[in-house]
Amino acid sequence: MNHITHWIDGKPWVGDATRRGEVYDPSTGRQTGEVDLAGVAEVDQAVAAARRAFDGWRSTSLATRTSVLFTLRALLAPRVDDLAALVSAEHGKVRADAAGEVARGLEIIEFACGISELLKGEYSEGVSTGVDVHSVRQPLGVVAGITPFNFPAMVPMWMFPLAIACGNTFVLKPSEKDPSASLFLAELMAEAGVPDGVFNVVQGDRVAVDRILAHPDIAAVSFVGSTPVARHIYQAAAGAGKRVQALGGAKNHMVVLPDADMAEAADAAVSAGYGSAGERCMAVSVLVAVGGCGDELIEGIRRRVGGLTVGPGSDPDSEMGPLITAEHRERVASYLDIGETEGARVVIDGREHPTNGDAGGYWLGPCLIDGVLPDMQVYRDEIFGPVLSIVRVDSLDSALDLIRENGYGNGAAIFTGSGAAAQRFETEVEAGMVGINIAIPVPVSSYSFGGWQGSLFGDLHVYGPDGVRFYTRGKAVTSRWSRIGAHHASLAFPASTGGGSA
Ligand code: NAD
Repeated sequence: MNHITHWIDGKPWVGDATRRGEVYDPSTGRQTGEVDLAGVAEVDQAVAAARRAFDGWRSTSLATRTSVLFTLRALLAPRVDDLAALVSAEHGKVRADAAGEVARGLEIIEFACGISELLKGEYSEGVSTGVDVHSVRQPLGVVAGITPFNFPAMVPMWMFPLAIACGNTFVLKPSEKDPSASLFLAELMAEAGVPDGVFNVVQGDRVAVDRILAHPDIAAVSFVGSTPVARHIYQAAAGAGKRVQALGGAKNHMVVLPDADMAEAADAAVSAGYGSAGERCMAVSVLVAVGGCGDELIEGIRRRVGGLTVGPGSDPDSEMGPLITAEHRERVASYLDIGETEGARVVIDGREHPTNGDAGGYWLGPCLIDGVLPDMQVYRDEIFGPVLSIVRVDSLDSALDLIRENGYGNGAAIFTGSGAAAQRFETEVEAGMVGINIAIPVPVSSYSFGGWQGSLFGDLHVYGPDGVRFYTRGKAVTSRWSRIGAHHASLAFPASTGGGSA
C-alpha cells in the first residue's frame, strides 16, 4: 500500500497524522494507497516553512529563478510518461490523455521561464521637473493553491510555476482522490534546485482548506473545483482579506449550425464530450443543434461511439477510462433515469457499452440524451461524466439565449461555415473561452484561462498575463535626484506642472 505524505520544507513530511484518506485505482475499484490528511498543525508547518523561505526567494535574482524553471522543464520533459502513468493510475484517464495534461502543464513552465520579460515595469522620465516615475510588480508572499481531482498534474502547474517565478512561495493542497502527482512534482522541483520551503504540499480535505482560508500568513488563494466550493472559497478567503481567484464548474455548450461540416462536428462532439470520461471542466456537455441538424448529428455520434474502446488507462487500446469513484459513477448514471423521468430520450445508454476492464472498475460508457429542455435537471446540473445532452433550437439567437441563461460560462463553441455567424457568436456569447470550429478552446499558455458567471469568482483568470497580475502587486515609485534649488516648504497639493513641486 502506497503511503502518500505531505511535502514540507523540501522533504516528505509524515507528521503525526491521525486522519488518513483512501486512494483507489478506479479501473479495479481496489485501494492502492493511503494519504495523510492534514489538520491545522500540518498546514501551519507548511505555511511557516513557506514564510521562512519567502525573504530569500523574493530577493533571488530573476536570472536564478529563471534558471531553476528551465531546469524544472528539462527534468520534467523526459518524464512526461512517468507522471502520466501516475495520474492515470489514480485518476483513471487513459495515458495519452494524462500525457496531454502534463504537456499542457509544461507549457506553463515554459511561459514562466520568460519571467524577466513578464515582470518588466514601466518608466516615465520627467513627469514633473526633475521627477521620474516607474512601476514595479512585487510578489505577495505565501500563496496557496487548492486543486481538483480531474487534472492532478496540470491544474497545480497552472498555478505554482508563475507564482514562484514571481517570487512567491507556495503551498499546494491537491485533491485527496489522486494526490501522488503533487509529490512527483515536489521531488522534481527539489531536484531542479527550488530552495526548501519555496514549494510545499499539504495533503488533505476541507479541514486543511479551512485552515488555509483562515491562515493570516497566506496572502492569496487560487482555487479550481466545483462551483459551490468555489463560491465558498471566494467568500471566505476574501472575507479574511486575501486575494482570491476561484474557478468553478461548467456546463459547456457546443452550438452546431446547419451549415457546419457535420462529420467534423460529430468528431468534435465525441472527442469533447467523452474524452477523459467527460470529467473535464472544458468538456462539452450540451450539444445545441440548430435548425434541424440534430438527427444527422445523433447518427454521426452513434456511429463513432459504437467503436470506442472503454477500458483501463494503462491499456494503450483504451480510449476512455473509468470514472473517479464508485459514488460518482452512480451519480452520473442516475442522470439517465432522471432524464427519462423528465421526458428526455436516452438514445445511447452507456450502461450497455462493453468495457475491457475489471468488473470492480467504475465504468460507464458514452451516453447521449436527446430532447433535453432547459428546465430539466439533466440540463441544469453539472453532471461531470460521459453524458451529452442534445437541445434542439431553431436559431442562433435561441442558442445564445440558452448559453446566457445557463448560469455557467466556462467554454462555449460554435461549429459553422459562416464567418458572420461565428463573428456574432464570438461577440455576444457569455463565456470566458470561445471556440470557433474548435470544441475545447483551452487557451495556450501566453493567454489566460477562466470562465464567466458561475464558472469564476474573482477578477483574474489563471496563468498567462493574468497569472502574473494575480501573483504580484503593483508599486509606483516617484523620485527626484536633482536639487530643487529654492528651499521653502509648501503645503499646497503637489501638482506636476509648474516649478517641479510634485
Ligand atoms: P471539488 O470542488 O469537490 O474539490 C476541489 C478541491 O476543493 C479539492 O482539493 C477538495 O479537497 C476541496 N474541497 C472539496 N469540498 C470542499 C469543501 N466543502 N470545503 C473546502 N474544500 C473542499 O471538485 P472536484 O470534484 O475535485 O473537481 C471537479 C470539479 O472541478 C468540477 O466541478 C469541474 O468543473 C471543476 N473544475 C473546474 C475547472 C475550471 O478551470 N473552471 C478545472 C477543473 C475542474
